[in-house]
Amino acid sequence: MRGTVVVTGGSRGIGAAVVLALAARGVRTCFGYATHREAADEVAATAADLGTPSIAVRADVSVESDVTRLFQAARELGPVTGLVNNAGITAPRSKVVDLDADRIRRLLDVNVVGAFLCAREAVKHLTAAGGGTIVNVSSRAAVLGSPGEYVDYAASKAAVDTLTVGLAHEVAADGIRVVGVRPGLIRTDIHAASGEPGRVERLRGTVPLGRGGEADEVAEAVVWLLSDAASYVTGTTLDVSGGR
Ligand code: NAP
Repeated sequence: MRGTVVVTGGSRGIGAAVVLALAARGVRTCFGYATHREAADEVAATAADLGTPSIAVRADVSVESDVTRLFQAARELGPVTGLVNNAGITAPRSKVVDLDADRIRRLLDVNVVGAFLCAREAVKHLTAAGGGTIVNVSSRAAVLGSPGEYVDYAASKAAVDTLTVGLAHEVAADGIRVVGVRPGLIRTDIHAASGEPGRVERLRGTVPLGRGGEADEVAEAVVWLLSDAASYVTGTTLDVSGGR
């Protein structure tokens, strides 16, 4: 894998695992975070211990100028050849009947507008670099719908899946592949952030493999999709969900 990879939401969870999996292979990353600077600094320090430089940039993906700045910062490490469009949020369990507009808008702002803005910047940089790969982090929720939990979140991830298909066709001739992963129940802080730290344990019985997944297991799929080993894969999204 050549060049620099931009990873959004790289300070914790799946994004941090991606940064470190890439660092272990000598791939430099410029990764974004929203507020947790200490966590971001720790990830950058661990990447440095692995012998690979990285840059952590505070950048809210729903803010256009932040996204532009994130990609500009990445150029300090060399041409950008990859994006892992990973930053995302959920929200407390709720039925559709109880949703309000502010909550739905915030989910769509971060998960959809943010993903589009990052993809747009990536297309510019990857085209200039002669090609590359965009990996969109979706969710199995996009297919399952998350009834009684967060249909709005699920719908935001369905939009990400559509971005993967449509953009892949737009930029294939420019040497850019656009692919996705749909994680299932993965042990990260995201469940506590939406008010249910025990969510993975509550639902583990619904997973054919009988357990929640680890962030590293998603990161390995992302690394493969970014790599030349996946050179004929585009416009599709891989489930990483233990069969759920
Ligand atoms: P997480 O542990 O909560 O980490 C979220 C990351 O995104 C953090 O680095 C956070 O930065 C960053 N972030 C949050 N809002 C942001 C914003 N507005 N702008 C920029 N960065 C932002 O989440 P995760 O579980 O690793 O989830 C990563 C992705 O996987 C998300 O897209 C999520 O929807 C998806 N996913 C997760 C699961 C799961 O079970 N965990 C399942 C399916 C899909 P700070 O550290 O600064 O807050």
